[in-house]
Amino acid sequence: MKIGFEIHVQLRTKSKLFCECSTRYWEVEPNRNTCPVCTGLPGSKPYPVNKEAISMALKVAKSLGMDISKSLVFLRKHYFYPDLPSGYQRTSTPLGRNGRLGRVRIKEIHIEEDPGRYEPREGIVDFNRSGVPLIEIVTEPDMSSIEEAEAFLKELHLLLNYLDVILNPSVVFRVDANISLEGGERVEIKNINSIEGVRRALQFEIARQKRLLEMGKKVERETRHWDEARGITISLREKETEEDYRYMPDPDIPPVDITSFIENNPITIPELPWQREERLMKEYGLDKSDAHTLILDKELGEYFERLVEKTNPRFAATFVADRLRGELNYRGLDFKDVREKESSITRIAIAWFREEISKPAAIELLRRLLDENIDVEQEIKKYTLREDVEMIIDDVLRREERIVRDILSGKKEAINRLVGIVMKETQGRADPKRVKEIISQRLSRWNS
Ligand SMILES: [Zn+2]
Repeated sequence: MKIGFEIHVQLRTKSKLFCECSTRYWEVEPNRNTCPVCTGLPGSKPYPVNKEAISMALKVAKSLGMDISKSLVFLRKHYFYPDLPSGYQRTSTPLGRNGRLGRVRIKEIHIEEDPGRYEPREGIVDFNRSGVPLIEIVTEPDMSSIEEAEAFLKELHLLLNYLDVILNPSVVFRVDANISLEGGERVEIKNINSIEGVRRALQFEIARQKRLLEMGKKVERETRHWDEARGITISLREKETEEDYRYMPDPDIPPVDITSFIENNPITIPELPWQREERLMKEYGLDKSDAHTLILDKELGEYFERLVEKTNPRFAATFVADRLRGELNYRGLDFKDVREKESSITRIAIAWFREEISKPAAIELLRRLLDENIDVEQEIKKYTLREDVEMIIDDVLRREERIVRDILSGKKEAINRLVGIVMKETQGRADPKRVKEIISQRLSRWNS
């Protein structure tokens, strides 16, 4: 089995690829985020290629270890569809070639403009996203199982996160997958919008192709459409060839000299996930599994390093990789979602680290902090007191054996004498009703 991908990712630039409209197309009413350029009106001329888009695409290409092209030419790719008013999509020659992510070879990466959005059922077109810059990452068919394909996409997603180039976190990938089984032709599946969707589409397609081959039928070379709602692929057309699109250089856009572009706009690559994993292990002596957990959420990993400064690596790893990440996962959150609570989270960690409060108290406080707004400083005082009081109660129970025996043998009112002793030792800070409750709980446990 051979699986390969063409992956489209919208880039997090401020403006579109060839005009000054915003890229945040989902925040406005349909067809309000447009201009003559991105709606292809006659006579409109594109602006020079968005530099930010080139820089971001270069960051991705370099992180994938690609050979960078010396110049970039934008081509017109002609086809008719209602979301494409100009009748062609602008797409670049490869910006990089021959990269690699894990054991998957990356064939090439291009820059493209996104078309608009067409709803065939209602016949409605929205051009808000038309012209948003995309990168298209083309892999070789190097994956040989669904698991491997899924792992690859997750790793790519993580990389793009670290590079901070993803425009819309709710639709990171638009994927075309190609798959061929032994003895069959290569089939392309279009229109998959998530990693989960890729898994389901591949499962369906593998089963369909196996069935055909087992019956001695042919798997034709074709393009199929993934129907997310029905969970099936549908034949669209026989696979088109490059010539069908009548590619030609766009006469409105001069080629971009990439070599001098990089000289004038140096590309800086941040620490990449696999580099961070290595460093966390080396610098803090973490084991691989903690280090890996910490790189999966970039901001969480950065928080870990801030917490180490105030505690120590062992404690910070347990608190962040186990406790905090567990609580965040349970709530479907990332660290960036709770960033404004960082100082409170740190306060809880430090209170636990200094043993001002116990581990169960710290965990309880952390949970409450994530679910509601609490004044952590005040809560820590309450917990500290509560735990002090419990220690004093246990101590008194151990010392005042005779009174305890009296109570257990039926002289219930003797409990008030214990409450009195505890109140005296806590200098009246405890709540007598609560003290009485705790004593009764402890004694009923002794009794049974
Ligand atoms: Zn525009």
